[in-house]
Amino acid sequence: MNIHEYQAKAVLKEFGVPVSRGVPIFKASEAEAAAKELGGPLWVVKSQIHAGGRGKGKFKEASAGDKGGVRLAKSVDEVKTFASEMLGSTLVTVQTGPAGKQVNRLYIEDGSDIEKEFYLSILVDRATSRVAFVVSTEGGMDIEEVAHHHPEKIVTFSVDPATGIMPHHGRLAAKALGLSGDLAKQADKLVAQLYTAFVAKDMAMLEINPLIITKQGQLRCLDAKVSFDSNALYRHPDVVALRDETEEDAKEIEASKHDLNYITLDGTIGCMVNGAGLAMATMDIIKLYGEAPANFLDVGGGASKEKVTAAFKIITADPNVQGILINIFGGIMRCDVIAEGVIAAVKEVGLQVPLVVRLEGTNVELGKKIIADSGLNVIPADDLDDAAQKIVKAVKEVR
Ligand code: ADP
Ligand code: MG
Repeated sequence: MNIHEYQAKAVLKEFGVPVSRGVPIFKASEAEAAAKELGGPLWVVKSQIHAGGRGKGKFKEASAGDKGGVRLAKSVDEVKTFASEMLGSTLVTVQTGPAGKQVNRLYIEDGSDIEKEFYLSILVDRATSRVAFVVSTEGGMDIEEVAHHHPEKIVTFSVDPATGIMPHHGRLAAKALGLSGDLAKQADKLVAQLYTAFVAKDMAMLEINPLIITKQGQLRCLDAKVSFDSNALYRHPDVVALRDETEEDAKEIEASKHDLNYITLDGTIGCMVNGAGLAMATMDIIKLYGEAPANFLDVGGGASKEKVTAAFKIITADPNVQGILINIFGGIMRCDVIAEGVIAAVKEVGLQVPLVVRLEGTNVELGKKIIADSGLNVIPADDLDDAAQKIVKAVKEVR
């Protein structure tokens, strides 16, 4: 689960991490009070969306101006102008995709005098099974670019969970950033605070880009991107309360209500499969025959008729779906249950696109019969290969 920058900074502040003062606003009419509360003389008006690259992003609407999604303001009036331009407008960044994201919240923050910008992130490194730090002197820019062109400028180290964070980790970070004296001490403290926050809140990723040194010689986190381990959310109701569902895919939210493992993708063939491995194989074979999946969907081992109906509705409601492939191996899940769920869903929401169904396993004959007797326009398939070829062919014929 992701949260907004201003929320991430509030979480980090609880652990003593140095962040700027700021006020989140939801309406342009709140801009003046926020700017006056902070006092200036420099403010930054920051779009709050769950995507990075906001500074270099562009708004779709000409009325939002061309100054990007993060703007320096030198007066209260300028804060007000930027707020009314940005709120409600759609920001397109390298991370939003071409559709962009509507900006519904802004963070008005104290402007910092920046001496230097660094990069620091913490993540769970599956290779070492440890929490790892990634540190670079090349802050404020795309870290993937730095990794590609200047891998030597990226330093990583991991923390042994048995000892936790130790003074030498702070020294490693300070050395990587070329800091000495008081700044090295600040780095040492910051590394410990960030690690503590990361572990305490079950974060999956924490990215500070940029981490800055101010002209006054202070280390400060100027941006913060945090995502949490969804499997641990049950023990963090305070984190769950930060969820902004408007930032999430509506189809994924609906799927999570029915306990379906669903991820939206950018292809044209909707897939309904049971079991993550079979779902991956199904997506692969669709690709092999020249189309792309519109989603990953694992209805799970013991899905009910209601669950199958819900899944089918989510797939058909997606305007990108030009054809549907249902691929079920009936183990615990019975093929007749799937067949009944599919028919119930088709009767309820209709079927505008070709549908190929491949059933195998428990009660397969009954499942096939239910579908054949339903009178619905379903294309039956015998195996995975056959099913993939049939749906790809059907989709191409319709186009
Ligand atoms: P994004 O990474 O989404 O573009 P950032 O929060 O990193 O957004 O902001 C982009 C740039 O704007 C930063 O690299 C920094 O140079 C500048 N910036 C952000 N916040 C402030 C601030 N409070 N004071 C001064 N400059 C800022
Ligand atoms: Mg940033």
